Amino acid sequence: MIFRDFVLKDPLLRFLHHLSNGYKLYAVGGIVRDYLLGRKSLDYDIVVVGNFRDIVNEFLKKYGGKLIQITEFGTAKIKLDGIVVDIARARKESYPEPGSLPVVKPSNNIFEDLKRRDFTINAMAISLNLNDVGRLIDPFSGYEDLFERKLLRVLKDRSFYDDPTRAFRGVRYKNRFELQYENRILKQEIPFALEILPRISFARVRNELERTAIEEKRADMFKEIKRFGLLDHLGERLDAPDTSFDRLDEILTDLSSEHWLPFTLLVVQLREDLPDLKRHEKHVIKTFREFLKREIPDDPIKIHEMFYNVDEIIPLLIGLIKGKEILVDYYHARKQVKIHVSGDVLVSSGIRKENIRRFLIELFVKKWLGEIKSKDEELNFIKKWTS
Ligand code: ATP
Repeated sequence: MIFRDFVLKDPLLRFLHHLSNGYKLYAVGGIVRDYLLGRKSLDYDIVVVGNFRDIVNEFLKKYGGKLIQITEFGTAKIKLDGIVVDIARARKESYPEPGSLPVVKPSNNIFEDLKRRDFTINAMAISLNLNDVGRLIDPFSGYEDLFERKLLRVLKDRSFYDDPTRAFRGVRYKNRFELQYENRILKQEIPFALEILPRISFARVRNELERTAIEEKRADMFKEIKRFGLLDHLGERLDAPDTSFDRLDEILTDLSSEHWLPFTLLVVQLREDLPDLKRHEKHVIKTFREFLKREIPDDPIKIHEMFYNVDEIIPLLIGLIKGKEILVDYYHARKQVKIHVSGDVLVSSGIRKENIRRFLIELFVKKWLGEIKSKDEELNFIKKWTS
């Protein structure tokens, strides 16, 4: 199949096409898959057979952009007005041990470069070369998997044994593109991933979770991560109902990578001693684990007393896990309720210092329950308290 327009109608790819004299250049991976699907891809992945530095230099000369990374393995990352262009020398990879980072060797062959990839749908390239511009190179039948079989398929046995992060990638692609897993993934590759995941760094898993948290279908993805047990090595599994993932997704409206933590906490009671956690995240995990063990009161005052000085995500998660709707409501109140009277007014109102905390708890709860709305009503409440 030939997709000339893909190259010739895109200024950046057309430029590379004109450079291809003396080199072999290909668009690969996500950009090809997304083009075939009619989806916009923000990133360009280009593979060069030949001296990739020449291409990087020519590219920078023409477009400027910021070279944010260049490695000895022959990969360069260039940032250009909100897009990222990855230019890499064709390479082959091998895994000295399961779960280790791959050993990379240059290759003079685009097929070898495609062979090291995770799934057939990501192992397609489109030629940018003068002699065969637009030709789809699809040695593993990714096109049929994507459009006819609707199948997510690995390229070889033990793929998740070499790199268990592919299990998370698989969950994303299967749900994002509404594919089915091939049987081999379910029967063989996921068990391999479960065997090797405890050996890889938490940073690598976290990176996958952050990428999952920004996906439209993140709720389904995290449900599947739970069902497969992909996080079981990081803490005790929780039995939050599946609906809690959908509700969390609705409540945390923006697709932010930081939401990896709340979604993960619906799956497992994460350990606090994991490396690469930010201070705030450690604190959230610790308090979440503590509060999970505690009896939850029904009285709004007692609820606010219990949670007023912890991040509001904690009562939300506990509410979703334990089916305590009042905690979900309390989360919304924590987000919305604004107290108008200032600290100065409180101090000069005559409320004794040791009673201010109690006063603020009661005022917050009255506002949460809609019993006090305006600033005047707040001032009246102060008067009642001091009379
Ligand atoms: P997304 O839309 O999720 O970003 P992408 O395909 O652009 O998808 P990247 O993570 O940017 O994904 O990776 C680019 C390409 O590199 C992939 O399409 C795939 O071919 C290959 N790749 C990335 N990670 C792996 C991996 N862990 N194992 C094998 N191949 C990988």
